[in-house]
Amino acid sequence: MHDSSAGDEYRDALEAAHRHALAWLDTVRDRPIRPETDADGILARLDPRLPEDGTSPTAVIEELVDAAAPGLVAMGSPRFYGLVIGGTYPAAMAADWLVSAWDQNTGSRQPGASTAALEEVSGRWLLELLGLPTSSGVGYVTGATSANLSALIAARDAVLRDRGHDAARGIQNAPTIRFLAGDAVHASVVLAGRIAGLGAPVTVGADEQGRIDVDGLTGALEAHAGPAIVALQAGDVHSGAFDDFSAAIDVAHLHGAWVHIDGAFGLWAAASPRLRHLLAGAERADSWATDAHKTLNVPYDCGVAFVRDEAAMTASLGVHAAYLPAVTSTADPYDHVPEMSRRARGVPVWAALRSLGSRGVADLVDGLVDAAVGLADGFRRIPGLEVLNDVVFTQVCLASREDADTVALGEWLRAEGTVWASSSVWRGRAVVRFAVSNRGTDAEAVRRTVDAVARGAAAVGIRDRAAPPVS
Ligand SMILES: *Cc1c(COP(=O)(O)O)cnc(C)c1O
Repeated sequence: MHDSSAGDEYRDALEAAHRHALAWLDTVRDRPIRPETDADGILARLDPRLPEDGTSPTAVIEELVDAAAPGLVAMGSPRFYGLVIGGTYPAAMAADWLVSAWDQNTGSRQPGASTAALEEVSGRWLLELLGLPTSSGVGYVTGATSANLSALIAARDAVLRDRGHDAARGIQNAPTIRFLAGDAVHASVVLAGRIAGLGAPVTVGADEQGRIDVDGLTGALEAHAGPAIVALQAGDVHSGAFDDFSAAIDVAHLHGAWVHIDGAFGLWAAASPRLRHLLAGAERADSWATDAHKTLNVPYDCGVAFVRDEAAMTASLGVHAAYLPAVTSTADPYDHVPEMSRRARGVPVWAALRSLGSRGVADLVDGLVDAAVGLADGFRRIPGLEVLNDVVFTQVCLASREDADTVALGEWLRAEGTVWASSSVWRGRAVVRFAVSNRGTDAEAVRRTVDAVARGAAAVGIRDRAAPPVS
């Protein structure tokens, strides 16, 4: 005899998790964003010894929530602007729960038919939305760091193959590859280059917004012949700036270089008729990396690698073993990524896109940019503060004249809890950096954010530079 239902074994724990999830989501918009304690504070509450005896699933969930609660940060708040975060659409979160319940290994098309097929469809939808060549290979990875790595490995092997080098030998005895990027290259591209054996990129300059210096790139490409990879950027983490793709790709391709674009959040400008001019020419690159867990607002972990030449992707990242089912003529998901077994992380993308439609994605991206422009307008009206970057997309860098005041403002904001923004240094100046990436950041969130910044500026003593000193 079987139990009445296998679901019974899960029911209590899932219901407890469901209840706690809704309790969190009910308060995430309005709770203070900051945690009550830091990681060390949470560690102090956790028993470091692995218990000898287990306990029931429901008791585990209750203990987990109790331990985690004081350190949870409202990253899903519409006033959380740190890093580049995103939020979560209801359809995407619900789909993510089902992905766990179904527990399909989505490395291959068989078994795993449904989730592999859903990922193929969401991948095609992404190519269409992002204006990329529709025959490109698509790989779902954990984030843009892994997407950059996947694409750069395909790039490395392709430029070596062009010189007659056998990619099976990796970089052993291979010709030297020049890896070039602008000065504002993202740290993840540097890391990916190191892991891929390319080393950190040689930087060729950038303008004041962080856009690659195309003359510098031209000079670097002309200086040496041989295999080359150029990394461009759609969306600088400080300024939001986009490289001049048309000019940079023209010169790179003239010299036979592979062009990769890191568009972790910026590639989404393509989904908006109003903003897609920022990406003019980007569709002529050879590979692209983006995140769905940032701009698209699906749960972590979800990055996407795209390679124009699908065969190059499969040649570098595909795997073959006797026990792995090979479906003739169609690549398996594991042929496009450095992973084999994995969750169906493209299914929440399918759900988010299905719930939004292409018009909804355009509205999402336009809304984020409208909020960034609204923040910048509000900040400029606060005496003693200035916006340092051209607000072309979702990023706003705020500063006062004195670095120490800017640092103090960032600390005040994060301690007060209405707003969370990162402190950084940009163009040699301290800044408080706002990255708008949550779908809930509306006019009301902008107003509350500007109010909080005005209160913070007053509290730390930032005054208009024109105002006479107070004696
Ligand atoms: C966030 C980001 C990355 C890294 O993406 P992860 O998803 O954190 O791995 C790379 N490039 C840019 C421009 C980013 O904003």
